[in-house]
Amino acid sequence: MDETPKPKSNFVRDIIDEHLRNGRFTKVHTRFPPEPNGYLHIGHAKSIHLNFGLARDYKGLCNLRMDDTNPETEDMEYANAIKEDVRWLGFDWEDRDYYASDYYGKLYEWAVSLVKKGVAYVCDLSVDQVREYRGTVTKAGKDSPFRNRSVEENLDLFARMRAGEFPDGAKTLRAKIDMANPNMLLRDPLMYRIRREHHYRTGDAWCIYPTYDWAHGQSDSIEGVTHSICTLEFEVHRPLYDWFLDQLGVHHPQQIEFARLNLSHTVLSKRRLLELVESGLVSGWDDPRMPTISGFRRRGFTPEAIANFADIIGVAKDNSIVDMPLLEMCVRENLNKSAPRVMAVLRPLKVVITNYPEGKVEEFDAVNNPEDESAGMRKVPFSREVWIERDDFMENPPSKFYRLSPGREVRLRYAYFIKCEEVVKDAAGNVIELRCTYDPATRGGDTPPDGRKVKATLHWVSAGQAIDAEVRLYDTLFTVRDPSSVAEGVDWKATLNPKSLEVVKGAKLEPSLAGVVPESRWQFERLGYFCVDRRDSKAGAIVFNRTVTLRDEWARLISSGRENK
Ligand code: ATP
Ligand code: MG
Repeated sequence: MDETPKPKSNFVRDIIDEHLRNGRFTKVHTRFPPEPNGYLHIGHAKSIHLNFGLARDYKGLCNLRMDDTNPETEDMEYANAIKEDVRWLGFDWEDRDYYASDYYGKLYEWAVSLVKKGVAYVCDLSVDQVREYRGTVTKAGKDSPFRNRSVEENLDLFARMRAGEFPDGAKTLRAKIDMANPNMLLRDPLMYRIRREHHYRTGDAWCIYPTYDWAHGQSDSIEGVTHSICTLEFEVHRPLYDWFLDQLGVHHPQQIEFARLNLSHTVLSKRRLLELVESGLVSGWDDPRMPTISGFRRRGFTPEAIANFADIIGVAKDNSIVDMPLLEMCVRENLNKSAPRVMAVLRPLKVVITNYPEGKVEEFDAVNNPEDESAGMRKVPFSREVWIERDDFMENPPSKFYRLSPGREVRLRYAYFIKCEEVVKDAAGNVIELRCTYDPATRGGDTPPDGRKVKATLHWVSAGQAIDAEVRLYDTLFTVRDPSSVAEGVDWKATLNPKSLEVVKGAKLEPSLAGVVPESRWQFERLGYFCVDRRDSKAGAIVFNRTVTLRDEWARLISSGRENK
């Protein structure tokens, strides 16, 4: 029996199914076409899952193509980071590692063929003049005075543009379509600009560069792509892409547009993310607060969680903002199954167990993962001095506080019941130590023969064997749900969350964590899921990032009736 779950249907699949039924295409060939001008973010992950997912499900192919037509902003560092991220998400483009810059020659030839056909011309208007001649949505544009140059003159001028005879910006090549078209993109769009810019791949071989509009559809055609899937803002470009392909008479992919992913409390725009990186407001593209794939990876999110998220949000045509807690829920669900439990104390308070023998160390059995029996058990040491969480003690507790307080008994998980007998303070009156007693009849944390119960179970770490670590706690990068929608004149960075990062030094870990490897993920009991930082953690100086807390904010949003809108 085939146990592979059936992919969820959506409008893109419906269109593809129709094409396969009516013979428009006999196979499915998609591509993921990032511009290497920044690192990938979670919005790109949606597109990657869609494109590679379709290829997988229809037994077709998906290419990776760098849409690199903009020499000023592109870089090999970005291209390499993009590849690493796509691979980490679990996808493989095999040998189809493509670059629009490899098509510059072909695009040039095709542009010449359109000049020969009389549907492209060299124009001497400046950028400002082009804008002025274009008209407005309500007013038709005016023909450029250079529109009726002869084919011979255009061929000569275009060849000389290519040869570097004219200064930057002096001339452009434009498609000759219709200056009165209601779709402004069809009012003689630019195909080439003169720009003496060094390109990260083609170097100085070219001084004219194709526009994105001229390069994109043709690149898909060259690669034999059947379905060019892109985001909604390209819907208005489709008639132009169709026009180019029809004029050239070449293989014609079908463009299909879907809604971009927007995520609450962050921004998904490479331009804005770059601004955060360049202004030093975050530590880099992979800062664990960033909505980038590399940031989420460093934070401890898993490819499986991101895949599940992509599946849940699906693809549709209406723009909306997805709540971050939904993504976090996917992460929590995945880590709940896979992350071993351990005990760690973030803000330690010393507990001395006065009736426990000095120098004695016992080992208790602890469950590695209640969700996964095969994960087994481990030993945790216990001794006369242990660390507990400062928050788990209150000298004057309110009525609902059941954890440790003077005279109160609680359970130390896996170990013993302890009772607080004395509070030790420093000269300033700060609590610096608790003196407690333990009950040997509660060994292993069990209820004693007299049936006495306690209302709280605390995590703890034995002081003599504890390992020190730095732990970084994160909150959302922005304090508002939609940081992009700011009033005119207001800096979009004004709502950055000043408390998005809290560094906790001197956390105490149980000794089983001594040899943790970068990127390993753990549940610290009662505190959340944590991941060993792949960049800053070193043997002897362990750094953990909190991936997510254990609180399910998503369930709360759903029950309060505000989900995803
Ligand atoms: P940005 O606005 O972040 O710079 P972009 O669209 O300019 O994004 P590209 O590198 O051109 O970035 O994107 C590569 C592919 O990823 C495109 O096909 C694009 O449609 C898709 N994509 C980009 N952002 C999103 C998003 N937020 N949701 C879904 N798909 C996206
Ligand atoms: Mg783009």
